[in-house]
Amino acid sequence: MKLVNLGSGSGGNCSLIETERGTRLLIDAARLGINHITDRLSERGVSLDYVSGVLATHMHGDHVDAGVTYPICRRHGIPLYVHAESFEDLLRRSKKFGELDRAGLVRKFDDSPFAIGELTVAPFAVPHGSGGWNRDIVGRPVGFRISHIEGASRKSFAFATDLGEVTPEAEEAMLGADALAIECNHDVRSELDSGRPRFLVDWVLGGRGHLSNEQCGRTAARVASRSRGSVKHILLLHLSEDCNTPKLALDAVRDSLRLVGEDHIPIDVAAQREPSAEIII
Ligand SMILES: [Zn+2]
Ligand SMILES: [Zn+2]
Repeated sequence: MKLVNLGSGSGGNCSLIETERGTRLLIDAARLGINHITDRLSERGVSLDYVSGVLATHMHGDHVDAGVTYPICRRHGIPLYVHAESFEDLLRRSKKFGELDRAGLVRKFDDSPFAIGELTVAPFAVPHGSGGWNRDIVGRPVGFRISHIEGASRKSFAFATDLGEVTPEAEEAMLGADALAIECNHDVRSELDSGRPRFLVDWVLGGRGHLSNEQCGRTAARVASRSRGSVKHILLLHLSEDCNTPKLALDAVRDSLRLVGEDHIPIDVAAQREPSAEIII
């Protein structure tokens, strides 16, 4: 199966996971614009009419929004999968979500794995949260372990964006994956020197904000070395446009992988407006 990111960062997020026989899922679909998502999918021969579900990581507007996510689901009859503990927050936030629910297009999941087509989706909790200054609602943020099991063969992606920090539970959920797609948000020095308001910097750097390049690198290195050779690709997600560069992110993650002898693993970087490389496992 394959994973391609169609755009990643605070300007919007959307990733496609596709099996050879045609189970297709999106992870998040927001803010990039309906045309961007539709066009990038159609360049890959994928029509939204044949997407089996949109999985929501959390409720920040760069991941789920009323302008892109709900219309895409409504127009194409695609179920939106949300954590059950996010449901009430979503209802309060937008009446379009209520309309989607009444149209039978909202599916609630809890912490148990569930099946969509040929894929098994196992959500895991991540500590990302609200900044608190504007009462923004995030629901119950999750990462996903997405697996395709065929006979004795099991392939899986571990996908985690917007983490804050990596808990033992989240790290455990990533072990043994064939590919990691993980947040690599900021360079700490650039964030501190950014001139952004102090409360915003404190939130980004804190345990409910975003992962730094070093945090991402250390996590990727621990997961790769504990997974004993299973991890064959790494995709870095959600880079800050102001406080990071692809080179800083790549160098930091490669340095961490080198320390554990795993720097042979290819690393790709997702961009805000351009599709990433396709990761095939
Ligand atoms: Zn985000
Ligand atoms: Zn977020």
